[in-house]
Amino acid sequence: MKHIPNSNRIPAILIPSHFKFMNNTLWLRWRLPLMIFVLGTLLIYLMQGFIKYALFEHDLSHRINIPLDVNDTNAILISTAINNLVPDLSMTCSDDDIDALRLTNDTSTNIQFLQLVTTDRGCSIYGHVAPVSDDSHASHKITVGNLTISPYTNSRVKVVRHFTNGSYVLAVSEPFSQLLYNNQTNKHNIAVYLIYKDQHIHLQSKKSKKETYQLFQKPLTHDFLLQVYATKTGINDVTKPDAVLVNISLLLLLAVFCLLLGIKNTHHKTVKNMIESGIHKKEFIPYYQPIINSVSGEIIGCETLLRWHKSNGEIIPPNAFIDIAEKNKQIYEITDLLIEQVTADIASLKDLNDQFYASINVPPHQLENQTFATKLLQKLSEHDMPNHRLAIEVTERTPFTDLESAKSVMQRLIDNDISIKLDDAGTGFGGFSYLQELPINTLKIDKMFIDTIGTCDVKANILNAIITFGKKANLIMIAEGVESLDQVEYLRKQGVFLIQGFVYAKPMPFKDFQQFINTCIKSNNNCLACK
Ligand code: C2E
Ligand code: CA
Ligand code: CA
Repeated sequence: MKHIPNSNRIPAILIPSHFKFMNNTLWLRWRLPLMIFVLGTLLIYLMQGFIKYALFEHDLSHRINIPLDVNDTNAILISTAINNLVPDLSMTCSDDDIDALRLTNDTSTNIQFLQLVTTDRGCSIYGHVAPVSDDSHASHKITVGNLTISPYTNSRVKVVRHFTNGSYVLAVSEPFSQLLYNNQTNKHNIAVYLIYKDQHIHLQSKKSKKETYQLFQKPLTHDFLLQVYATKTGINDVTKPDAVLVNISLLLLLAVFCLLLGIKNTHHKTVKNMIESGIHKKEFIPYYQPIINSVSGEIIGCETLLRWHKSNGEIIPPNAFIDIAEKNKQIYEITDLLIEQVTADIASLKDLNDQFYASINVPPHQLENQTFATKLLQKLSEHDMPNHRLAIEVTERTPFTDLESAKSVMQRLIDNDISIKLDDAGTGFGGFSYLQELPINTLKIDKMFIDTIGTCDVKANILNAIITFGKKANLIMIAEGVESLDQVEYLRKQGVFLIQGFVYAKPMPFKDFQQFINTCIKSNNNCLACK
């Protein structure tokens, strides 16, 4: 007997020798991923404006919220600092006043310069000099009570707190350009305005009439609003490093997605082509697994199970390719191929008992087609084989799309002595409703439920429920995947006598099956003796 490889073994479909299937249609397989990649790249390119806008806005919000500025404007924080400073001043420009100015200047991250001007003298952090003039009378300013805020050179603001006797404290802020966008662009590309109610000042540059700007704004406090106008160049300059990173990441993601799609496509199409070639070379063959009556020891039939015998000697189990063959509708041809071989094999068996049958797995969709029934009946008559020698297993795992057609095909088969068995009962779509709708006379109880025998698994209750139902509905029951005599014994007590499973025999090639049957017959039809 040929060596049967472990069914967990990686199927040959993944081995590079099959690249010959790939080469001719390589372009077809990679066409879709490539198109997605090109379109995706184009989309990323077209989205540049949006990406940069979003980055700029994010950067701006982030900078305005950094602890350096806390959540207020420079001006407002500066006013707080000035208010805190005033009680420490004697307003005489004494040495103590200068020290107080210096201390506030050093401890504030927002103030670059401080000076005090009294009625008769001036002083500042530089000593007994007051070099900055008070522009409080300038037209371009914001006035909030006794405070005026006006623009100062190099994107700074000047905040002046006036006292009734004519004295004032003047502070110059740190540059806004540094706080807001790190000076990464020419200052004419970005204009920053501070708005207070109906007053406003520019913190840096003014908008130029020649340029087009995009507006970003952010409320700073209840009354203050910051408006940042940026030209396309300004946004580009500021976001350049981040935009490059974002673009590279998006491209990488797109490339990985397309690569995975291509590989999946290639694998699927490679398998599809290989199945096609397998059909052509008739590499799909039936294995046979006996179904035995555990009480009488008689073999009552068998299930035919598909195997893919590749020309290199490898045997591939159905689970490795059935799904793809079903998706590509290749399973129809495979079933036809199998029927051809099974009818020939079974017709050649001698001395079979009357009831003996071989059941074939047919996907629900195929059973909705009258041509299937026609071809099947034709095959049986070609081999001069009684119709009842063939049975159909239809699985519950995939749904019917046209139940009415399926019903009429099945009825035609039944009328011609071909019985229908419900495979994997209890596991799938139809539930027991199929049994009311369709002319089914046998339940094949799935291994999933048999495995629960002798365990505390809740599914053990389902097994008993299926058996009770099967008895009440007068259905023949076959237990599938039975591996131990304890399971056989349990099932026998429950009234299930027909057993298919490794406990008696594994699926085998026809030659071995032939021998199995002959030994059975020689032992007076007691197959349990020939194990
Ligand atoms: P299935 O129709 O439920 O077939 C029973 C599966 O259980 C078979 O797996 C069989 O080898 C396995 N089996 C039987 N007794 C035991 C046991 O005691 N222990 C264990 N562990 N397994 C047991 P196989 O041959 O690998 O087939 C798997 C599935 O592939 C089948 O499940 C069926 O859904 C599908 N299949 C097989 N042949 C065909 C076919 O010709 N056409 C179609 N459409 N599907 C097929
Ligand atoms: Ca089956
Ligand atoms: Ca099954």
